[in-house]
Amino acid sequence: MAGNLLKLLTRWMKENTRRIVSDRLQIEELTDHVHVDALTRLYNRRWLDNALERLLAQAIKAQQGLGVLLIDVDYFKQYNDTHGHPGGDQALVALSNVLKTTLRPYDFATRYGGGEEFLVLLPHTTEEEAIATAQRLWDAARGVAIVSPTGTALPGITVSIGVAVSDVHSTVHSLVAAADEKLYLAKNSGRSGVKF
Ligand code: GH3
Ligand code: MG
Ligand code: MG
Repeated sequence: MAGNLLKLLTRWMKENTRRIVSDRLQIEELTDHVHVDALTRLYNRRWLDNALERLLAQAIKAQQGLGVLLIDVDYFKQYNDTHGHPGGDQALVALSNVLKTTLRPYDFATRYGGGEEFLVLLPHTTEEEAIATAQRLWDAARGVAIVSPTGTALPGITVSIGVAVSDVHSTVHSLVAAADEKLYLAKNSGRSGVKF
């Protein structure tokens, strides 16, 4: 009698644990989709809007710089037109992998607006460090191998990068606008370069 009750209880507990674990995994999967871009597996704009405010406040409090790099693929419309949209997608994935492997573990790479523009956040960073990081990314991006979905090698890409670093007076808006202005400058001075 007591043995049967124990067996029933054990089975009930196992069933419950299984259900809790499965719910937890589903929640994690949903949360992941909310904050991660499906193509590149980088953080998305929704995540950025939240994090940027927080990271800038932290930087100002600690009197440290928060670096922002705005990265835009050069002539990407033409790349798509020549190599097809799936080929373009592969180029974006390759560039995202450069960001993931080149940055420090506590930097953040995001896909900005879901297109061919990326925003990188560099906490605890001086202007010199931000510029050096941008130049490293620029160099790594132009060397990255791109392979089409059918397995053929595609030509490389280049990127233009605008760099800005926060000071104690920065707002989210002023910081991103400063990086955007530099990106615009990089595009206007012939593309494939870093401006700060
Ligand atoms: P620029 O050098 O001035 O940046 O020129 P651009 O051609 O890169 O810029 P433009 O804004 O004219 O075109 C951006 C292109 O990026 C057009 C759009 O089709 C492409 N694009 C945006 N998102 C994706 C995507 O997820 N996959 C692919 N394959 N292409 C994308
Ligand atoms: Mg572009
Ligand atoms: Mg663009």
